[in-house]
Amino acid sequence: MNGSSYIGRFAPTPSGYLHFGSLVAALASYLDARSVGGQWLLRMEDLDPPREVPGAQDAILRSLETYGFEWDGQLIRQSERHSEYAALIQRLLSQGLAYACTCSRKQLEGSGGIYPGTCRNLCHPDQNAAIRLRVPELEYRFVDRVQGEFRQHLGREVGDFVIRRRDGLFAYQLAVVLDDAWQGVTDIVRGADLLDSTPRQLYLQELLGLPQPRYLHVPLIIQPDGHKLGKSYRSPPLPADQAAPLLNRALRALGQQPPADLSQSRPQEVLAWGIAHWDATRIPRSRTLAEAQLR
Ligand code: GLU
Ligand code: ZN
Repeated sequence: MNGSSYIGRFAPTPSGYLHFGSLVAALASYLDARSVGGQWLLRMEDLDPPREVPGAQDAILRSLETYGFEWDGQLIRQSERHSEYAALIQRLLSQGLAYACTCSRKQLEGSGGIYPGTCRNLCHPDQNAAIRLRVPELEYRFVDRVQGEFRQHLGREVGDFVIRRRDGLFAYQLAVVLDDAWQGVTDIVRGADLLDSTPRQLYLQELLGLPQPRYLHVPLIIQPDGHKLGKSYRSPPLPADQAAPLLNRALRALGQQPPADLSQSRPQEVLAWGIAHWDATRIPRSRTLAEAQLR
């Protein structure tokens, strides 16, 4: 591949600190980009201030620096992009592609997480209402570079989904698609907890006439207590004095085979080894991985 055409990114949510699972995802996207001479961007997905942990943004940046990651260009924050998201929502509303929904959580109980379409053909004003995107009665499929083929029927398995919450906050699905396209991202490498968000994102790309990036979903790390280290997991910050050994362990989680003495090196040297030896075909084709097996 022509390296100059590859643009990758890491997009942490500051609802917590980076944990070993996010380190694995960051490392995979970094090595996949750098091994072909591509760019690696950093985007703070700070869409949800009530769920933001104070100090998490700074701690995330400090962890990335301590662990030796270098990003290209300016850090982007989604909190600075509200006018773009709002404009898109107005456009989707005016085209009839989205609609206001006033259903309460209680009203939606019992529909199994799939919106039953109650407000689809009603004309609520869009203030103080959630905004939902109409989905087509179609199956979306894509071929993930590691997980292989993934299919999901948007009508039957997802339903019309929220793109702006009732409290006015913008939804991840909308912001991520808009920002990846705006930043020219060609390759999305992230945790397998987002595999089943991808068909919604493919539909948004299609609707907006945006290019479809390549996808690679890495296994989600499971803690000995059974916790999945996904977006919603709260954990202490990555230890600053364990950078090289934890990077080494993250390499092994990704199926790479670093020499044993590499964990005695500086983090930058572990990353350099990873870039020189990166082989994405070795990543386990699994949605989850037990951290205990990597120690
Ligand atoms: N912000 C999301 C998270 O922390 C990741 C978004 C993405 O990589 O698409 O889980
Ligand atoms: Zn509704």
